[in-house]
Amino acid sequence: MADASAICRSHSFESDEEIDGIRKRLLTWYEANKRDLPWRSRKAQSLNEKAYAVWVSEVMLQQTRVAAVIDKYKIWMKKFPAVEDLAKASLDEVQELWSGMGYYSRCKKLHEAAQKVVNDLNGIIPTSCEELAKQLPGVGRYTAAAIASIAFNERVGIVDGNVIRVLSRLRRVGVAHNSKIAENHFWFCSNKLVDEECPGDFNQALMELGATVCTPKSPACSSCPVSSSCLALKQVHEQRKFASSKFSKTDNGSLPDIESSGCSLCLPPTEPWDSDKGVTNFPRRGKKTAVKTEEFISGVTSFRSNDIDYYLIVKRPSTGLLAGLWEFPTVPFLSSNGEKKIQLLGHLRKFLSEDELSEVEIRESKTVSHLFSHRRHIYHIHKIILSINHQTSQSLSKDLVHFKWVTEEELFRLAISAAVKKMFEASGDIVSPNVGSKTRKRKLNGTQQSLEKFFKSK
Ligand SMILES: [Zn+2]
Repeated sequence: MADASAICRSHSFESDEEIDGIRKRLLTWYEANKRDLPWRSRKAQSLNEKAYAVWVSEVMLQQTRVAAVIDKYKIWMKKFPAVEDLAKASLDEVQELWSGMGYYSRCKKLHEAAQKVVNDLNGIIPTSCEELAKQLPGVGRYTAAAIASIAFNERVGIVDGNVIRVLSRLRRVGVAHNSKIAENHFWFCSNKLVDEECPGDFNQALMELGATVCTPKSPACSSCPVSSSCLALKQVHEQRKFASSKFSKTDNGSLPDIESSGCSLCLPPTEPWDSDKGVTNFPRRGKKTAVKTEEFISGVTSFRSNDIDYYLIVKRPSTGLLAGLWEFPTVPFLSSNGEKKIQLLGHLRKFLSEDELSEVEIRESKTVSHLFSHRRHIYHIHKIILSINHQTSQSLSKDLVHFKWVTEEELFRLAISAAVKKMFEASGDIVSPNVGSKTRKRKLNGTQQSLEKFFKSK
């Protein structure tokens, strides 16, 4: 909790009665209104199985919309119904299934943690919040609390984006929601509120309320089961009352003093209550983390055989961003290294023979930009078409880079990032001069040239 001397009492809960009331109303509402989601209706034979099912759903739901998770979850649980099945699978298989949901490190950690459960913990998932977070890679405070409360009935609160929104409105927490003081306070509140008998249902109810009623832009306060305890809504009402009685002698003429100066959880005096925003005054966003931009050159490289196009794809290193995923050959763009094409062709020599590279058509495509969590990647796409059919020789790889040739259909079945899909689409926009085009044909000014020329000119 925040330093008690510096915060107003209203940010906490007034009494046990108030807490009881919130619990009862929220649980009753949840029972009647909860969405039918596959991880809620799934029958488990044991608590261990239940914990695994909750764990998978919680990891999938981080940063991904519920609608996008539902089908993936069903397929996943069919393929890996138990933690042992997940542990046995290869990372490739697991990532292929994950494909399309982004944030691949979550999937990699989940796989790693499943192996740890099977190999080091006798197949038993830890049963307490503390042990879950301590033992399992990728399981942080939130996921641990979700598994412990939902599967094992541990009385522990949770804090995620939905909970932050609900709590910040309920208790008028106006300081940046990602600040340390706010974060501690949200955990304090959620641990205080969580129901003693049904902590799992209560936590799900709180998240469900944030997802369906107490939404970011247009909260449905009139159908909120805990609106009578909501201090943000109270402030809206007081504001209205004040506005209508402004010129009346019965009122003392000043707005009820809600913000207390010096309180480290109230709205900051520099950005006070905005009456147009109502309850959406809360939560307040923190300063955005600066996004780092990096530029790359990518080659969507293909050859055609029997009317089928084959694409060259390369596997990324097993650590770092997008670890272990497949992508088109890509190199960082360094303007000091000269022309993009030369840099790219130099890179392609790792995978292609001089013979193959001697007859290539290079078309410059547009630039594709993709935002990862805190990085923006800009890809300068080139479409590289080999005239010579590739003779599936893997021995060309000079530094054992993992690569292969795939059809379009195979490509989309592999574990690839959304950025790769964008690149593929971008490359499709530049069509061959002898194919009907959906976009304006580019003039292939001098792009049909041999590699020799490039390297000789170096
Ligand atoms: Zn305050």
